[in-house]
Amino acid sequence: MEDCLFCKIIAGEIPSNKVYEDDMVYSFYDIDPKAPEHILIIPKKHMKSILEVQGDDFQYVDAMIKAAQEIAAEKGLDADGFRLVFNTGENGGQTVPHLHMHLLGGRYMEWPPG
Ligand code: 5GP
Ligand code: ZN
Repeated sequence: MEDCLFCKIIAGEIPSNKVYEDDMVYSFYDIDPKAPEHILIIPKKHMKSILEVQGDDFQYVDAMIKAAQEIAAEKGLDADGFRLVFNTGENGGQTVPHLHMHLLGGRYMEWPPG
């Protein structure tokens, strides 16, 4: 989609520090990390948020979660645990309107979040 930051990252028009890629998802380090490991996992199809996912597009969400499993294992986060987050809309704190899942790890995560 034109003028979408994350679509431009997928297309390679904006550089990113790639962590993982397959035919459905792309994953890269967050530019402003909130934990020792802060990785974003995004679908290769433009969808604004989890609210826009329907029908066959749920396969992208499956692929995002499978990618999280692989990345967590590869980064050694599976033993101590980690957090997966979908910020959604204004109250959810979403700032980039392309569906993305945060993978945060490497430290204890407080609950509730701020
Ligand atoms: P949100 O706040 O929408 O849930 O998450 C968007 C995330 O994208 C933020 O954590 C922010 O730091 C990250 N981000 C914004 N712009 C860029 C960028 O150009 N490159 C990378 N790697 N991350 C970005
Ligand atoms: Zn997009």
